[in-house]
Amino acid sequence: MLFFDIDGTLFDHSTAEKAGALGFLRQHREIFNIPAKNFLMQWSNLTKKYYQLYLEGKLSFGEQRRARIREVYSLVGRTVTNEEADWAFQDYMTNYKQAWSAYPDVIPCLTQLQNIGLGVISNGDYQQQTDKLLHIGIRHFFSVFVTSGDVGYSKPNKRIFIEACARANKEPDRCIYVGDLIDTDFLGSTSAGMRGIWLNRQGISLPASTNIPMVKSLARLKNLLE
Ligand SMILES: [Mg+2]
Repeated sequence: MLFFDIDGTLFDHSTAEKAGALGFLRQHREIFNIPAKNFLMQWSNLTKKYYQLYLEGKLSFGEQRRARIREVYSLVGRTVTNEEADWAFQDYMTNYKQAWSAYPDVIPCLTQLQNIGLGVISNGDYQQQTDKLLHIGIRHFFSVFVTSGDVGYSKPNKRIFIEACARANKEPDRCIYVGDLIDTDFLGSTSAGMRGIWLNRQGISLPASTNIPMVKSLARLKNLLE
């Protein structure tokens, strides 16, 4: 059984996030009188900060969205009500969704490897992660679909990986996991006894002594598995 991460692995989150934040900025230009580059950096940092609190169970999925918007407004000295924050988030969401896409190497890879049995293990909200995969046309490839929002543990906790293998009726050592983050994905999955593969889309170089099985593109995955 071959499992994948979603964001940064199958789904091009960073391009969509950038489009979402720039669209939001265009719509609220009169309030945010700051250069787009700075706004994007702040947005991305705040997303990471509040998403992490969501993954740790300290905020609900909706609360992390509001908290992110509140802090974005505080950058320009404004406070917003919950209702205003929810409306503002929808402006981001509309632009973000319009840019949802799969990386170009995804569909060929899934098509090539679907006989192995495919699944996903993702840190996120079950409904939103489902919507993303339906929207980019790949939901049907996966027979097992596990999200942290659904099971109550997030990567790198090995319990989410073990739960996914159990749902596939496979021992972890018969399962492979492919993801774009070393700590969250590679170390998490290998700690559960799976075979981890790091998808290094940015071509980051590590010291030669680091022994992490790696591909730079999903087009190389079949070769590595053979
Ligand atoms: Mg990822």
